[in-house]
Amino acid sequence: MKDFTVNAAIDCDLPPPFWGRHLIAGEWVDSAETFERVSPSHGTVVSVSACGDHATTERAIGAARTAFDTGVWSRASGKERATVLLRVADLIEASVERIAVQETLESGKPISQSRGEVGGAADLWRYAASLARTVHGDSHNTLGEDMLGVVLKEPIGVVSIITPWNFPFWILSQKLPFALAAGCTVVVKPSEMTPSSAVMMGELLLEAGLPSGVCNIVLGHGQPVGSLMSTHKDVDMVTFTGSTAVGKLITQASSDTLKKVALELGGKNPQVICPDADLESAADAVTFGVYFNVGQCCNASSRIIVHEDIAADFVARVVALSRKVKFGDPLDPDTQVGAIVTPEHNAKIDAYVQTAVAAGATLELGGGMLPVEGLGAQFYQPTVISNVSPDMAIARAEVFGPVVVVMTYRTLDEAISLTNDSAYGLSAGIWSENVHTCLEFARRAEAGTVWTNTWMDGYPELAFGGVKQSGQGREIGRYGFEEFLEVKSLVMRIGRSRAPWVESDV
Ligand code: NAD
Repeated sequence: MKDFTVNAAIDCDLPPPFWGRHLIAGEWVDSAETFERVSPSHGTVVSVSACGDHATTERAIGAARTAFDTGVWSRASGKERATVLLRVADLIEASVERIAVQETLESGKPISQSRGEVGGAADLWRYAASLARTVHGDSHNTLGEDMLGVVLKEPIGVVSIITPWNFPFWILSQKLPFALAAGCTVVVKPSEMTPSSAVMMGELLLEAGLPSGVCNIVLGHGQPVGSLMSTHKDVDMVTFTGSTAVGKLITQASSDTLKKVALELGGKNPQVICPDADLESAADAVTFGVYFNVGQCCNASSRIIVHEDIAADFVARVVALSRKVKFGDPLDPDTQVGAIVTPEHNAKIDAYVQTAVAAGATLELGGGMLPVEGLGAQFYQPTVISNVSPDMAIARAEVFGPVVVVMTYRTLDEAISLTNDSAYGLSAGIWSENVHTCLEFARRAEAGTVWTNTWMDGYPELAFGGVKQSGQGREIGRYGFEEFLEVKSLVMRIGRSRAPWVESDV
């Protein structure tokens, strides 16, 4: 039997490199310095971007501050805000192909998944538009005859949005429309690896009629752009998605000004497979969970915890499916797994695998680079590793590649203890036909999301985020929206009933 299914390069012309500029106060702005992105799959330059410095970032933050303080957006009605957000959603849908191709070229992910990501993001904008019109506070009419209390919800202010490379358009859409729906103004910094889809988003925002300065975009690196966005006194909140290491730096950097910080960080997400599970569906979900987005996914199901009675059968099923998953040219609509984001990251994935094997783990499949005919070597084999002990680095660290490790358990207590034996707590799943088993697991798993008999389903209505070192705060859903709101209590006396504190002589 052949080891893997590989799609060779397809014959197609790549678009010319995308030219990205900053968006500041409604104007497109160049920088003297630029940076290039070389496509991980095709090895050619696919974008050239203006490279932000300290001064550019200052200007962008200043523009967001001014726009917020003038009230052009922060004091606009919910109806006005929703109208713009709904227009953006329509424009996204009309631009899916252009954005998706660029995203695939910069990230290496399969074009079918880029199309799904970009097209699906429109729904986040529509949902956020509904929140812009329905947000409300509370009233307290029971404080006594002479008092009325009202709790107001207000936009938090200027928000820094810092995003990673693995879902550039989707993650921006998990944050931006919700911040805008709340009435905030923003500065966006996309990853230096995938800057272009944020610029394309900026084009759509202008076309939709978002007032100047409400959304500013600075392209560039963590230093100095992201760093200044995390420390600046005129920024009220930072919302960050990325690695746990950088999340910790942002928390430290923001502490001087005590700005609010929301963090969506890494994960080492387990799926528990019980002996009574529908093994065919579970094996398919595990395969999807590990290889989707080239395994470079915060929600990757990179830890499988399977009952020892069915472990051999289950591993055989996952290996058989893994051989059939289509690796290769990400521009081929048939491809399911594309390229690894950088050669350094590919080497890092391989180092985790080789270290585990040297420590006694068993390589069931894969375990090396995967050159693709007509393309470069920046691909990694579908890799399944068993005989993994919980203390191995490969069982604890976020490998962020097409690699799954398998551990076994005997009792549900043991499975839950393995599930929770992690610094991370983003998501967890269980497969069992017994609802009681599923519910017990769901209650005891330390994770922001628990899936039972499914994996990675999400909806704009449902909050997303992690516990432990997977983050703080929530994104999307009503809870995610509330992160961008400040709460103000308004206390009103009715009439002149208050007894004087000091007797006046006059
Ligand atoms: P990263 O932390 O290296 O970079 C993320 C962003 O932070 C980039 O824009 C980068 O330029 C910027 N940055 C770097 N240093 C900075 C600094 N000192 N101050 C401010 N900004 C700085 O992450 P990445 O490699 O782009 O993305 C992969 C990581 O993101 C993984 O750990 C993954 O799990 C995580 N992620 C989490 C979620 C989630 O929702 N929990 C979703 C997607 C990705």
